[in-house]
Amino acid sequence: MPDRALAAYAARPEHSRGRRHREASPVGRGEYQRDRDRIIHSTAFRRLEYKTQVFINHEGDLFRTRLTHSLEVAQIARSVARSLRLDEDLTEAIALAHDLGHTPFGHTGQDALNACMRPYGGFEHNLQSLRVVDLLEQRYATFDGLNLTFETREGILKHCSVANARQLGDVGERFVKKRRPSLEAQLANLADEIAYNNHDVDDGLRSGLIHLDQLASVRIVARHLKAVRRQHPRLADRRLVHETVRRMISTLVTDLIRASAANLRRHAPGSIEEVRLAPPLIAFSARIREESLELKRFLRDNLYRHFHVVRMSAKARRVVFELFGAFLSDPALLPPEFQARAQDEPARAIADYIAGMTDRYAILEHRRLFSIEET
Ligand code: MG
Repeated sequence: MPDRALAAYAARPEHSRGRRHREASPVGRGEYQRDRDRIIHSTAFRRLEYKTQVFINHEGDLFRTRLTHSLEVAQIARSVARSLRLDEDLTEAIALAHDLGHTPFGHTGQDALNACMRPYGGFEHNLQSLRVVDLLEQRYATFDGLNLTFETREGILKHCSVANARQLGDVGERFVKKRRPSLEAQLANLADEIAYNNHDVDDGLRSGLIHLDQLASVRIVARHLKAVRRQHPRLADRRLVHETVRRMISTLVTDLIRASAANLRRHAPGSIEEVRLAPPLIAFSARIREESLELKRFLRDNLYRHFHVVRMSAKARRVVFELFGAFLSDPALLPPEFQARAQDEPARAIADYIAGMTDRYAILEHRRLFSIEET
């Protein structure tokens, strides 16, 4: 379904490099819409509800999970896509799928599993997201995975080591040849950054681990905080936070649209193929990039390295290490479907099993394996 509103540089479903397994064209919806729908119906997508990024799932019901995070990324990315006349369906599909390969327990879980997997080829969460949609989902009669289009798969593989990229064929090629992905993929990546920086400020404040007065040193927050306080001197703290975060997201989104539109005018790529050869074109202005980095540094030093988070992370790391160790020393402990796969590549099958776990499932499985009272 060609869309006249799309810009020349947008991805177009009718020019897609296609799917790995041939399928008839969808009826009543486009190829990228079908990708988006398949992602939403996948098991890995549903599990995002019980996976977290910073706070572990049982710490509270109000914090972001990877599911709500992915929805926020999709919302931001779609707004920008529409404004720049990019393909909204592709943007949304990539945004919704971008975290599918994440382990339980956020960054800690990923680092722990990567350490376990070091002798066996390592563990990269972007690569795992691709593995989920290419191989691990089992829903279709005639192929493994979701059989998504090349463009969605390319967007999901945000980063990848060159060594791994060489094993991946067409979708890994850009890391070897140093090419760019579609603008839709570039956009989903930056929408991710906007979403997590802002919701981590919100969740950090809500948890009490960071305080409003600390944020006075972070320019982008301080500027909006000051403006809201001036306009609404008697606002309760929760509303003050929401109003500030809302304005920050709006500033970042507006800047992303303006700076990217200027880049697109300057380079004027005439097709997605020209986008691949150009420098990254979806970008913040230099000033906002700098302010966004300042906010990231603040969150790293004050939230991600807060002793409460560090303590939780230490426990989470132990759970992943102990699960991996137990399964590797005795693959008979694995559920039957993973045992079959463990015969060829035990470590990889164990990594797939652990990566697929939600926070609470990992805790439960750890208890089942290590506590004599559990069955
Ligand atoms: Mg993300």
